[in-house]
Amino acid sequence: MSKHTHSFQAEVAQLLHLVTHSLYSNKEIFLRELISNASDACDKLRFEALANGALYGDQPELRVRLAFDKDARTLTVADTGIGMSEAEAVEHLGTIAKSGTKEFMSRLSGDQKQDAQLIGQFGVGFYSGFIVADRITVESRRAGLPPEQGVRWSSGGAGDFEVEAITRAERGTSVTLHLREDALAFADGWRLRELVGKYSDHIGLPIQMEAEKWEEGQDDGQPGRMVKTGEWETINQASALWTRAKKDITDEQYRSFYEQIAHDWQPPLAWSHNRVEGATEYTQLLYVPSHAPQDIWDRDRKAGVKLYVRRVFIMDDAEQLLPRYLRFVKGVVDSSDLPLNVSRELLQESRDVRAIREGNTRRVLGLLEDLAKAEPAAPTAPAEGGEAPAEPPQDKYATFWREFGAVLKEGLGEDFANRERIARLLRYASTASDAAGVSLADYKARMKDGQKAIYYITADTLAAARHSPQLEVFRKKGIEVLLMADRVDEWALSHLPEFDGTPLQSVAKGAVDLGDLQDEAEKKAAEDAAEAVKPLLDQLKAALKDQVEDVRVTTRLVDSPACLVAADAGMSLQLARMLKQAGQKLPATLPVLEINPGHALVKKLDGHPRFDDLAHVLFDQALLAEGGLPDDPAAYVRRVNALLA
Ligand code: ADP
Ligand code: MG
Repeated sequence: MSKHTHSFQAEVAQLLHLVTHSLYSNKEIFLRELISNASDACDKLRFEALANGALYGDQPELRVRLAFDKDARTLTVADTGIGMSEAEAVEHLGTIAKSGTKEFMSRLSGDQKQDAQLIGQFGVGFYSGFIVADRITVESRRAGLPPEQGVRWSSGGAGDFEVEAITRAERGTSVTLHLREDALAFADGWRLRELVGKYSDHIGLPIQMEAEKWEEGQDDGQPGRMVKTGEWETINQASALWTRAKKDITDEQYRSFYEQIAHDWQPPLAWSHNRVEGATEYTQLLYVPSHAPQDIWDRDRKAGVKLYVRRVFIMDDAEQLLPRYLRFVKGVVDSSDLPLNVSRELLQESRDVRAIREGNTRRVLGLLEDLAKAEPAAPTAPAEGGEAPAEPPQDKYATFWREFGAVLKEGLGEDFANRERIARLLRYASTASDAAGVSLADYKARMKDGQKAIYYITADTLAAARHSPQLEVFRKKGIEVLLMADRVDEWALSHLPEFDGTPLQSVAKGAVDLGDLQDEAEKKAAEDAAEAVKPLLDQLKAALKDQVEDVRVTTRLVDSPACLVAADAGMSLQLARMLKQAGQKLPATLPVLEINPGHALVKKLDGHPRFDDLAHVLFDQALLAEGGLPDDPAAYVRRVNALLA
């Protein structure tokens, strides 16, 4: 059979370069990657075989074997998994199909030290073999194909690889690394055992190595050495961690299990492991990661929870097991009730699955509540009794919120039943606090006497929110306002009309009614002012008739001449802008212009020879002040210049 030479896809070549040049200080991770691929391949076979038992052929055993040859300087990782056809080998080992990986590559800075750190946090997949090998040879046969349809793939890790058809007796894949001079230490039984213990202990299938024994040196001067015995022994725990009793599992084991299932090499923030009994029986082991996926090497199966049925792996990313707003959670659910041949469609209809989803949701919310509770624990006060926790829980909730807060907020609109619980987990920046750590309960506790609403403002950025003229009167009266700048905020809050009996109110919508916070004298003064400037209001309305719905006297400005607000029932200007950016057609609702009659600029308006220009400048500035842009910036500049001159 002839050999074919293929070029790597450009991104692969780039990745290879990066891997071999940035990761030499952390060489050992290649083994974790290759074993993880072998394990994935076995999972895939197990799954496909549910529908077609013949795929096992005469090899029912699923396992991974490590073999090394010091003299030949090779290390081989062989599995009895699904294998690859020739076409699959070309595709899977020559291109990067995953958009996530490409996106990841595009983030790299080009600074080798930084990139090495970044890449070290993620899996680097098959190509990491080239950190330790100057040539990799893969031999494989897809389950179900005849022996003549095996394939040999080989590459020196530069620009191309070769592929040829071979005859291969065994199903599955063997990856042989031809070790570089500086990586010969990996051709060593002790070293390999140590690495398997470190990275792959909980892989749910046996990882085996040939047992070795010590042979004494001979009289002829030969030193003693380890020799292979021909017996294969399993060197990992190979047990599904979640089936063991909690008390028998150390934190370290929980963490390393997380690494393996989440392909995330940074430790999780928290986890929850339970055996749930009752009408629906299952085991859940759920983790909250410490960082949002940047997207990592396998986006397609990264997100979410793996489903097992009585320890048999069924599928990755079973999205029915958690609501979408908890999609950052990683973990395992092992059901005792579902049938093995459960499909995604079936999952959607299953009552057991619904019960599991509810149980998982409760658990995760509980986990987050615990983190939140631990958070404000005064850092200086000694713990009451007992020993200090091994790791102080400090900042965990803040970390969670920074990474996933925006996702959790979606829950307000999505999970009616848990809305209260979610609302208590919300955290915001506010005019009273720099940190983004104000909860609605904190806010309520600080409310002024007579204050009837929780006030908030949304803007494109926190800085824009913080400096919005609409906050002036709140500032003057010392009323706290929550500052929001997440895209999802406005939508999410539309599903939370009140918190614990107190309504939430946007300061940028409708007229400000400060209720009892405004004294009679102030109200009277405002009404008088409105009366006095009535003719001016009409004049402005006429000048800006295409741009505003109404012009009225403000109750919210102190230092600024004017601001724009949404009419009572309308959507806020911020939301309207977002929708417009997203290309949506909007009903033509115009904002309301509020003017501050006490302001020098407004006083000047009356009878001004350039009234029309001034009116437009006032409007455009109000727009600018809240992060918008004048429809005709050039006209704005012209007008301002004319006025300056
Ligand atoms: P990932 O594992 O994230 O998909 P890798 O770079 O590790 O990325 O592997 C790329 C692809 O090569 C895998 O998705 C799989 O299709 C294929 N592959 C790698 N190793 C094996 C193996 N031992 N058996 C079968 N297929 C494999
Ligand atoms: Mg992989």
